[in-house]
Amino acid sequence: MQGLVENTSRILKSLFPDGASLHEPCFGGNEWKYVKECIDTVWVSSVGRYVDRFEADLASFTGTKRAVVTVNGTAALFMCLKLAGVKNDDEVLMPALTFVATANAAMQAGAHPHFVDCDERSLGVDPQKLEKYLEEITQKRNGACVNKNSGRRIAALIVMHAFGHPSDMDALAEVSKKYGLVLIEDAAESLGSYLNGRHTGQWGSFAALSFNGNKTVTTGGGGAILTNDEAAARLAKHLTTTAKEPHPWRYFHDQVGYNHRMPNINAALGCAQLEQLPSFLEKKRKLAHSYMEAFSGVSGLKVFSEPENARSNYWLNLLMLGKADPALRDEILDSAHKHCILCRPAWVLMNKLPMFKDCQKMDLSCSENLEGRLVCLPSSAFLSK
Ligand SMILES: *Cc1c(COP(=O)(O)O)cnc(C)c1O
Repeated sequence: MQGLVENTSRILKSLFPDGASLHEPCFGGNEWKYVKECIDTVWVSSVGRYVDRFEADLASFTGTKRAVVTVNGTAALFMCLKLAGVKNDDEVLMPALTFVATANAAMQAGAHPHFVDCDERSLGVDPQKLEKYLEEITQKRNGACVNKNSGRRIAALIVMHAFGHPSDMDALAEVSKKYGLVLIEDAAESLGSYLNGRHTGQWGSFAALSFNGNKTVTTGGGGAILTNDEAAARLAKHLTTTAKEPHPWRYFHDQVGYNHRMPNINAALGCAQLEQLPSFLEKKRKLAHSYMEAFSGVSGLKVFSEPENARSNYWLNLLMLGKADPALRDEILDSAHKHCILCRPAWVLMNKLPMFKDCQKMDLSCSENLEGRLVCLPSSAFLSK
């Protein structure tokens, strides 16, 4: 065990003698030019040509009919839940192994997160286990899928493409269809990740992207809703821009709206970043392969590689211990941090956070196990040699 910590530390030190952060942006393209243009023309705020262009560029890159950009990924997820018709007191299924934003968005929409387990091959929701569970605990009442234990309607399933690796989407789409659940994809980490040649976000009725500073492409802060439903996209635009009727000067708002739009200056950054996405993806893939090679001789752990039929963006590279051992994981993290190599564990499972501890959940043994096995490695695109 001591040997594993030392080996890992030695390999990481040889890769990054000067240390490395977990994920930093790369600004090597037209960022300055486009942002400067916003400032020079004073179009920095809530409308502008970069907002329109970024939405068109995102739709085209992901192969989706419409993209609606937002202030952050959490706001995009929140809007996906609204578009899905999630109401007060509904339950929303989601993985326990996710970033807190997934569960926060559901709570903010008035719903109750309901945590489900993932599988080891994709790190996303396990469709077989989910189907068995739903068969056991749900009942159809007036066409709705009702949780027999809580008496509440289960309205939607959010899947999350963990660390950029696509979940098992065909099977998950089937389960959600069988149980009448709206399928939403939290694709915050998976811009540039494909399954069977299809971009993530294409299975659900709605998907959310994030452009936070640590994501593959950044706008400083930002997010987007992806959908093939034109009417839903128009509604998303309307609701995220204070629900104001289109009019040259009159202030008329037809419902309670949100100020969740992305400013033009952030969209300008996004346009410049998206131009470089193919090169970021190439570099991140190269870095993943360097990790696989560097750790290939070490027994007791492996570098996680993309699931079958998937082409992942390798947003964050992962070391996966042979078995769950939180103490060993923490020793590896401590030792890396001593050399300024800023590795991180996976997120604490959502059901263990104080605000979600009473939420409904299934057996989470695989998520529990993974939590004790994963170490996130430095993954900025510029780290690839
Ligand atoms: C980053 C992220 C989000 C959205 O985060 P924002 O910081 O609000 O943009 C949502 N879900 C997951 C899984 C994420 O990693």
